[in-house]
Amino acid sequence: MVSRFCFFVFLLLIGTTIFSQRYKKVHANAVLVDTHNDFPSASIEKKVSLDADLLGKTHTDLARMREGGVDVQIFSIFCGPEQQHPYAFANREIDSVYEWAKRAPKRMTLVRTPFELRRAIKEKRLAAMLGVEGGHMIEDKIEYLDNFYARGVRYMTLTWNNSTSWATSALDETTKGDSLPYKGLTDLGKKIIERMNALGMIIDVSHNGEQTFWDAIKLTKKPVIASHSSVWHFCHHRRNLKDDQIKAIAKNGGVIHLNFYAGFLDSTYERKAIAFAALHKPEIDSLISKGTQPNYAEMIVMEKYKNEVESFRPPLSLLIDHLDYIVKLVGVDYVGLGSDFDGIEAGPRELNGVQDFPLITKALLERGYNKKDIRKILGGNFLRVFRANQLGLN
Ligand SMILES: [Zn+2]
Repeated sequence: MVSRFCFFVFLLLIGTTIFSQRYKKVHANAVLVDTHNDFPSASIEKKVSLDADLLGKTHTDLARMREGGVDVQIFSIFCGPEQQHPYAFANREIDSVYEWAKRAPKRMTLVRTPFELRRAIKEKRLAAMLGVEGGHMIEDKIEYLDNFYARGVRYMTLTWNNSTSWATSALDETTKGDSLPYKGLTDLGKKIIERMNALGMIIDVSHNGEQTFWDAIKLTKKPVIASHSSVWHFCHHRRNLKDDQIKAIAKNGGVIHLNFYAGFLDSTYERKAIAFAALHKPEIDSLISKGTQPNYAEMIVMEKYKNEVESFRPPLSLLIDHLDYIVKLVGVDYVGLGSDFDGIEAGPRELNGVQDFPLITKALLERGYNKKDIRKILGGNFLRVFRANQLGLN
């Protein structure tokens, strides 16, 4: 009896070991694309460079990206609407990404085409890409859009939280409603969509108001992405996508890249985070008074009181629930990952930075996804959209 029991335990151990090795192998063999990482903004706020060891300071650094099996990283080029010269500011952030690639040429390279992307992966270098997060950075000039494309920008989020003169944001559409002078895309907005299609720059619908979303998706002749949005069904946040939007993106051949932000995954998170911020208000205010941006001040304080925050972060299984929901609604071809690392103060408990991406693969295997589907989710779906947008250009 005892020996039979020992044999059973032995088999269980072997099984567990095989599984733990399997997820690592599946993860390593897949191309992992993360469509949204805010490190360029975080690097300015925290005065750090991507090639340094930043464990405990940021979600991202080059060494941990390798550890996490990140093959393609789209860096978000961003500044808030309060900047006097957003186009110039964005260009300085692009300079930083170029600089990081120059400092670590064996570990990272900037890619502009699917061909360059494949080559970088073959050479085991991080394929860095650029996305402009907010149409305000083109300052209403199509030539600035062209210049961004020439510098390697391959997607633009039509709006950030602020509307432009040609597109309304989710924040404005939901809070200003009928007092807005227009809703959705204006004639200039429509021209910008056409120009993005012609250039091969992917249209990103994250942050867009619903009217802007519907105007853009009706007009575009190429597949779009949501670079960092989650699912409305689980969490009624204006940044998340409703079922009819998810279906429209699938019909368009586009991809929804899930945002890891706890406040977009879990409808109870924001209430708890507000209570935390109220408790630590003096400390947060003191950082802001010294010039730290409010969202980064909150992030720094949350990092300091990690254990408190830990208690109200959602589990990784909730992110997988969001993913599963999209798969069940429209299929496995229309979902991907857009972490928003270094732009969010907290994600699921298990995901503390770019090094933890393999845990997503592990969770997907446990949820019953096969290797082929996992490859699509981790990056294959994005690559399809990238190729479709670039078709006939090179
Ligand atoms: Zn964003």
